[in-house]
Amino acid sequence: MTQRLIIFLGPPGAGKGTQAERYTEYKLLAHISTGVLLRDHVESRTELGLSAKEILDSGDLVPDNLVISMLQERLDALEESDGAILDGFPRTIPQAQSLDSLKNKIEIVAVVVFEVNKEVLIQRMLERGRSDDNEETIKQRFEVYKKETDPLIKFYKDNNLIYINGAGKEEEVFNELRKKLDPFLE
Ligand code: AMP
Repeated sequence: MTQRLIIFLGPPGAGKGTQAERYTEYKLLAHISTGVLLRDHVESRTELGLSAKEILDSGDLVPDNLVISMLQERLDALEESDGAILDGFPRTIPQAQSLDSLKNKIEIVAVVVFEVNKEVLIQRMLERGRSDDNEETIKQRFEVYKKETDPLIKFYKDNNLIYINGAGKEEEVFNELRKKLDPFLE
């Protein structure tokens, strides 16, 4: 069975997780967040968690091979569903290529890009207060985003790219998301 996937792209603090949570409840899709999966591994002290902990705290990316196999496992475990939102994956070109190589198993229905200016992002992250939300780590995560993840927008230029203004209130962003994404799921 082909899994219909929606990719959420955007810098840290853009609201991908919050909006993915709401949208997956609304459309009964699976919500796959590689950040959440990694933090679960850290929490339960698995081998992956132990090697990922320091990387998460530094704001760098966990190596592609580890994230890719973790994601594949999660995709394999998907029950029959109407699809899933990928929140925080892919984050590098090799990760995107690994998804492409699953062509016969998945279909990328849309790629949603959340745009938010830097001041708002920093403010949000500092308020969120996750252990990797300190100023030093935030700075590193922005650098990594610019260098590794931002090029994915170009990579997906021939897909259904949707731009969302993520700077507004949660409800406003969700309304815009529904308006622009719903048509691709009908
Ligand atoms: P997030 O919850 O999406 O902000 O991710 C938190 C942290 O988990 C990131 O700063 C990375 O260290 C790691 N991470 C999450 N997703 C990925 C990914 N696709 N590739 C590499 N590292 C990731």
